[in-house]
Amino acid sequence: MVQMKRTAPRARRASAAPPETALKPGRKSRAPRRPSAADPATVREIFTRFRAANPHPKGDLDFINPFTLLIAVVLSAQTTDAGVNKVTRDLFPIADTPHKMLALGEADLRERFKPLGFFNTKAKNVVALCEQLIAKHGGQVPRRREELEALPGVGRKTANVVLNVAFGQPTIAVDTHVFRVSNRIPLAIGATPLEVEIGLEKIIPEEFKRHAHHWLILHGRYTCKARRPECERCLIPDLCRSPEKRV
Ligand code: SF4
Repeated sequence: MVQMKRTAPRARRASAAPPETALKPGRKSRAPRRPSAADPATVREIFTRFRAANPHPKGDLDFINPFTLLIAVVLSAQTTDAGVNKVTRDLFPIADTPHKMLALGEADLRERFKPLGFFNTKAKNVVALCEQLIAKHGGQVPRRREELEALPGVGRKTANVVLNVAFGQPTIAVDTHVFRVSNRIPLAIGATPLEVEIGLEKIIPEEFKRHAHHWLILHGRYTCKARRPECERCLIPDLCRSPEKRV
């Protein structure tokens, strides 16, 4: 991604207005009524259960320092974490700093990134990213959101992951899983990742914020799946009010 910012996933728009025909007197809307966002006590209970089941959640991307985390997240755009890990398994041991990564050269990186898709853009971005880290940040990954988002290939979600995982800040990165799960349960309802992020920031108690996005990603990836949520093994079926619930 030249910044590969993700467009909003095509999740159901809970707040979308019904079609005009549905508003005419005498005509009933067939659209299912969407539940409103969970109340504070429910939100607390949901995260209490996630924490009890997995007190120290981790993402699936492999990395060895803030720089390799940043590269891994940039490479993960439009592909799977498992695919990125396959590529970085041989890469990070020999290129764990911007200088070493640049020394490999763009052509070498392009070959390595081929399995990931968008490999031309990703190779260019990684090279430009390393050059900027060296030129503007002494080869270090910056700790400020504005500086992170100014780097090639780095958007808000990537910055949130790095701030959270590498630097321990309670940011909430909204990827496709967090977006879907949050709208589905629903926790925070929004038509864009930013709306969901702002909504989650407001409703998640401070004590859960540090790990909130990991719990939601893992819940969405392994249980509350996009096409067929596995509600029979869900931790929160009694708290979920999704019309897609299957228990
Ligand atoms: S009950 Fe089903 S739809 Fe609701 S959160 Fe759990 S897995 Fe998702």
